[in-house]
Amino acid sequence: MTPKLKQFFSELELTPIATNKNLKRFIYKNDTIVSFPFLNKFELPGLVFKLLKKCPTNIEAMSVKDFWTPLLGEKNCSNILTPILNGIYATPCEQLKFSDVFNTDFSFKDQNYFTYLKFLKSKMNDVKSVSFEAGMEQLPIKLGSILKDHISLNNEQVSFPPNSLICIDSSNILKNGNADIYSHSIMSTSIQRLNGSYGILFSGRKNILGILCNHQIFSFNQDPSYTIMSKVLLSKPELTKILSQLFKQNISISHYQVSQWPSGLPLYNHSRQDKIRTLNLKEYAYFGNYTSGISLRSLIEQTL
Ligand SMILES: Cc1cc2nc3c(=O)[nH]c(=O)nc-3n(C[C@H](O)[C@H](O)[C@H](O)COP(=O)(O)OP(=O)(O)OC[C@H]3O[C@@H](n4cnc5c(N)ncnc54)[C@H](O)[C@@H]3O)c2cc1C
Repeated sequence: MTPKLKQFFSELELTPIATNKNLKRFIYKNDTIVSFPFLNKFELPGLVFKLLKKCPTNIEAMSVKDFWTPLLGEKNCSNILTPILNGIYATPCEQLKFSDVFNTDFSFKDQNYFTYLKFLKSKMNDVKSVSFEAGMEQLPIKLGSILKDHISLNNEQVSFPPNSLICIDSSNILKNGNADIYSHSIMSTSIQRLNGSYGILFSGRKNILGILCNHQIFSFNQDPSYTIMSKVLLSKPELTKILSQLFKQNISISHYQVSQWPSGLPLYNHSRQDKIRTLNLKEYAYFGNYTSGISLRSLIEQTL
């Protein structure tokens, strides 16, 4: 949530609730669980020195991995950057286009990584992660109730008036260019190792992208309850086995529910922009998470 969105939510009479504070962030690196800043005492000093390296300048052609490798090295890109990005895009860093994912409103010429990181941090001022009482679905429910007289379902539209805005999901537009995503909501034995944390992110090698500790992020959630995001559908016995092995603890799952979005998230690579460019934009406008950022913040800000 940004100050602009705060105003928008207040107009909708929705009260945003911030995430609980001081929670740890974990990633799964080299088969171990590590917390922020994810680097050990041997890796950190080298990184501080590299912060003074000049930033690349041909950024339009670069993947996220291309841009960050001079600072982080190839291994850290795969072991640290990919898990972090998997938590948002479900896609490894070598497949993501740098300018789609990072703010490039910055003059890269003669600047070093330290100044760019400072710039990125300044853009995060006043940005908060929020939800609503009873969860994010409050937002579409509220919008639906305000707009109910303008919504009609199952209409076959044969012609569109000029200036129509087409909002369908990205798999209709990008076709094979999307990432599959599955979300498993479970109630289970408390996972001791994740106590006091948002959860843990993975490189995706074991198909799991991340585990969220719902009850720790927002106190209104059932305690304990977890959401496991993955690239494949996992059955309850499969999840029990994976979690028990990962956390070296007997896990029993009392409630299991799965949601799936095959081809659900746009892949923010070079082909996305190429496909968007080939759309007929003369009479219609297209709008969705394939036109700019993936977050609800970015979608809402495009309309304000
Ligand atoms: C599991 C998951 C977790 C996420 N978590 C977060 C988060 O915590 N924070 C955040 O900011 N973002 C999150 N996102 C991202 C964000 O929710 C999405 O980017 C956003 O909802 C996409 O909105 P959209 O309008 O582009 O597409 P959609 O939400 O997919 O909406 C498109 C709509 O078009 C309809 N449609 C499709 N084809 C047709 C047709 N031919 N005719 C009529 N209607 C059609 C669909 O039924 C759908 O209702 C998450 C996404 C996923 C999948």
